[in-house]
Amino acid sequence: MVSKDLLREKASRIRFVLFDVDGTLTDGQIIFGPDGEDYKSFNIKDGMGIHLAQKDGIRIGLISGRRSLAVEKRANDLEILHVWQDIKDKGGLLKCILKDLDLKPEEVAFMGDDINDLGILREVGLSAAVANAVREVKDIADFISELDGGRGAAREFIDFIRSAKTRLKTQNV
Ligand SMILES: [Mg+2]
Repeated sequence: MVSKDLLREKASRIRFVLFDVDGTLTDGQIIFGPDGEDYKSFNIKDGMGIHLAQKDGIRIGLISGRRSLAVEKRANDLEILHVWQDIKDKGGLLKCILKDLDLKPEEVAFMGDDINDLGILREVGLSAAVANAVREVKDIADFISELDGGRGAAREFIDFIRSAKTRLKTQNV
């Protein structure tokens, strides 16, 4: 954890927010249907946060270690253009994202919940863990939400970034 001032400073630089899906944007439950299709539930307040961030010009991306139609549907629903699924090496993917989208690490934030997120959490400018993330993730995260994954944690993180940016703008007027 870093000081509140440093945290706000880091947040004010963010232009792109990436989210892990299972356990971060969902509560981690996966329901399998009879034909092998999977069902996940997403939080409506997280969705509104993503929408508000996009309106502010902050880009949003989703990264999932699994592949699921439900994730594609949710991304379409929220007009999220950047979606990477079936990713085994999230840290490696970040390097490609930075290059392709012409971003610096300090302009990227990531929120995750489990050890497969550690590689990317260590590299971004602002790292976040959901309240019920595993200990290893919480140990290195700059920001830990009060809410659990799939229960508004993403909204909390986005609101923090948006308020840090607003604060900086008003200070600079
Ligand atoms: Mg996860």
